[in-house]
Amino acid sequence: MAMASVLQQIMIPVYQPHFGGREKEYVNQCLDSTWISSKGEFIRRFESGFAEYIGAEHVTTACNGTAAIHLALLAIGVGPGDEVIVPTLTYIASVNTIMQTGAEPVFVDSLKSSWQTDPEDIKRKITAKTKAIMAVHLYGLPCDMDAITAIAKEHGLFLIEDCAEAFGSRYKGQHVGTFGDVAAFSFFGNKTITTGEGGMVVAKNQHIIGNAYHLKTQGVSPTREYWHDVVAYNYRMTNLCAAIGLAQLEQADEILGKKRRIAEWYQQGLAGLPLQTHEELPDTVHAFWMCSVAVDDAKSRQPLRKHLKQAGIETRPFFYPAHSLPHCGNAQSFPVAESLSARGINLPSYPGLDRQDVALIIDTIHGFFESAST
Ligand SMILES: *Cc1c(COP(=O)(O)O)cnc(C)c1O
Repeated sequence: MAMASVLQQIMIPVYQPHFGGREKEYVNQCLDSTWISSKGEFIRRFESGFAEYIGAEHVTTACNGTAAIHLALLAIGVGPGDEVIVPTLTYIASVNTIMQTGAEPVFVDSLKSSWQTDPEDIKRKITAKTKAIMAVHLYGLPCDMDAITAIAKEHGLFLIEDCAEAFGSRYKGQHVGTFGDVAAFSFFGNKTITTGEGGMVVAKNQHIIGNAYHLKTQGVSPTREYWHDVVAYNYRMTNLCAAIGLAQLEQADEILGKKRRIAEWYQQGLAGLPLQTHEELPDTVHAFWMCSVAVDDAKSRQPLRKHLKQAGIETRPFFYPAHSLPHCGNAQSFPVAESLSARGINLPSYPGLDRQDVALIIDTIHGFFESAST
């Protein structure tokens, strides 16, 4: 027993945030000034700094990424009777928020090459009820935005981007979140930049961001006190969170640079093994939120994870495809997403990993396949 628990102690987690800047200083400024709630200068500074970093016109903070997606959907008027096209291989928040509006998620499969939303399958799933397409930039690699924006335009559909995993991701030089009508980012503790819990809504036009702002602030009138004209929410971010976010934003390039180097170490070290790494594609900048592999043989996925765990290395399996979850019950088949979901592993991916950590992980993976083949 004691032996087993020692062996299974995690030494290298999948993620931990990198606080190398002015986080403490800014949080202390909030405390000293007593502005710890959702008013205060850091909200404004974080919003304007974020908008500038990604090249967005209009943004507003939210209390988490899920709330940001919910606001994004509501801000473009998604509701009962509508269908929203969404990849089945995504985190559940993309799907639950669609259902929370009263609309129906219509699932699409993924591409084998990039693991991202398959544009051809989007075309097949468009009906008279389709209101919007939600593109999810899974694990930090952008979707094929030329294809997806063209489909949305041709069919007169709204385009939403779930950029929760894609801070720092670019397509043809343009930061994701600026292609669609509206987009959402997450700043959860394991996201590329974090505020603990937090999110951001991004929109192309002032009207949409105005709707999102109205809905996140209880639908209160800007001119008449305690006058509310809609069923709305308290989805505001606190000044404390924004203070952390601003400090994180100041280190964005450094954090992204460290993550890119880690991804390169993995790619070099894992070459030749019976698995696929998540490669950057031409015309994209992969932010490598997660460094992931899909093993060739699904049967080796759990044994490999167990082998890594015994060496103190934490991993995560890929998401279950949403269509297979009980409350989304959908009997259709999505062969690529199902296969990826059964074969995928997220490896430790946090910016503080050094060369030795990554070398240990790579050696442990090599050790697994060597012992499996003898
Ligand atoms: C993390 C994540 C979210 C939700 O963000 P929270 O801040 O945890 O609410 C939504 N979509 C995707 C794809 C995510 O990875």
